[in-house]
Amino acid sequence: MNITVVCEHNASMDSEEGKKAYPEGLGVCLKNLMEETGGSVSLVRMDENGAGALTDEIINGTDVMVWWGHWYHQKVSDEIVNKVADRALRGMGMIFLHSAHDSKPFKRLLGTTCSLRWREDGEHERLWCVAPGHPIARGLGEYVDIPQEEMYGEYFDIPVPDELVYVGWFEGGEVFRGGCVFCRGRGKFFYFNPGHETYPTYRIPAVRTLLLQAAAYVAPADGVGEVPACRHIEQFSLQRR
Ligand code: ZN
Repeated sequence: MNITVVCEHNASMDSEEGKKAYPEGLGVCLKNLMEETGGSVSLVRMDENGAGALTDEIINGTDVMVWWGHWYHQKVSDEIVNKVADRALRGMGMIFLHSAHDSKPFKRLLGTTCSLRWREDGEHERLWCVAPGHPIARGLGEYVDIPQEEMYGEYFDIPVPDELVYVGWFEGGEVFRGGCVFCRGRGKFFYFNPGHETYPTYRIPAVRTLLLQAAAYVAPADGVGEVPACRHIEQFSLQRR
């Protein structure tokens, strides 16, 4: 399986808190995590210059794409968004992390504003599993605790998820559909809210397990292919014996 991690690098990651959370860089942390799938993982940097390193060759060879962005969503060209969305609809799995709710590919695939309430306060988040037995939640119990996270709250302007796996609760009182699966075309996508760059969320063992299980879940079971075109059929008859 070929996995591509598209990860933004922003100035907040160079702050004292950012470096403390991810000394190796958040993108490298995610790359190392995805390598635990046994797949081949590429890391593509996104920054104020966009995501030009995400070439056709990389997109066309990707089975699962992980997307982490925060500041530079608008810097990603529509041309790249078109190619990513096209491949996703043809079966490439996607995992959208944290502020990727506001990324162009996510909004393109879902068709709504994907806006939400937020507060950067380092609050405790408890993600309650609302789909026990779901493959993404396997073995993780009733909830996953995240000691410090940026609050994302409802209303979250998304279509009704095909599968709602986790609902997050924050100590400030808000709730949030923080772990959702969407099926579009031949593809499956998972959105997961935790992962602000100054909190070491992606080091938490339960979060790592959850994301590895998500990668396996959204991976194309039957490869990335073509969506059949509309066809005119002359006649269709059932033959009776
Ligand atoms: Zn954030």
